[in-house]
Amino acid sequence: MEESHNLGMVIVYTGHGKGKTTAALGLALRAAGHGKRTIFLQFLKSDWDYGELKGIERLTPEVEIRPLGVGCVGILDDDKPIEEHREAARKALAMAEEIINSKKYDIVVLDEISIAVYLKLIDVDDVMRLIEIRPPETTLVVTGRNAAERVIEAADLVTEMKEIKHPFQKGIKSQKGIDY
Ligand code: ATP
Ligand code: MG
Repeated sequence: MEESHNLGMVIVYTGHGKGKTTAALGLALRAAGHGKRTIFLQFLKSDWDYGELKGIERLTPEVEIRPLGVGCVGILDDDKPIEEHREAARKALAMAEEIINSKKYDIVVLDEISIAVYLKLIDVDDVMRLIEIRPPETTLVVTGRNAAERVIEAADLVTEMKEIKHPFQKGIKSQKGIDY
């Protein structure tokens, strides 16, 4: 297979089916095998019992992960004012910009950022800005359902996870090691 060296791209994983964050994790695993560095910036997700937080420790130093959210927005036991979620999302954005500019990472994963836009915690222009400042050798991965049309247009690779079946439909709750 022909190789084109160190060409970064914008990848979008969206859709209502399961597998968006998992796909980004798989990418990080593959890239680590080539000594490439990945950082996961988790918009919305807090420092909860996600398997990827500890799993990624095993891929240190190639892969890093930073939970930057304050938990689920508007569901379950969310008792935080929306302003608190907005503030966390804005801080995550600022960190993303700094990290992209640092050129320290080959892959920057903006996990659930599309949901942050959908929930109006940040603006689609904020995501477009991150895409615009991307150095050519850096890959940006944008995950989350309901990706904005403009982000899809700007991307090089877009995969929509289509839900065919999900155990949730049968009332099966999320499973450790599979869902988190
Ligand atoms: P994963 O993190 O498993 O790759 P995802 O990133 O595609 O999933 P999100 O929209 O981020 O999915 O949802 C996060 C959580 O919701 C995960 O625990 C996931 O299993 C669950 N989930 C994903 N799709 C569905 C669905 N269609 N119905 C119910 N729960 C879902
Ligand atoms: Mg996800």
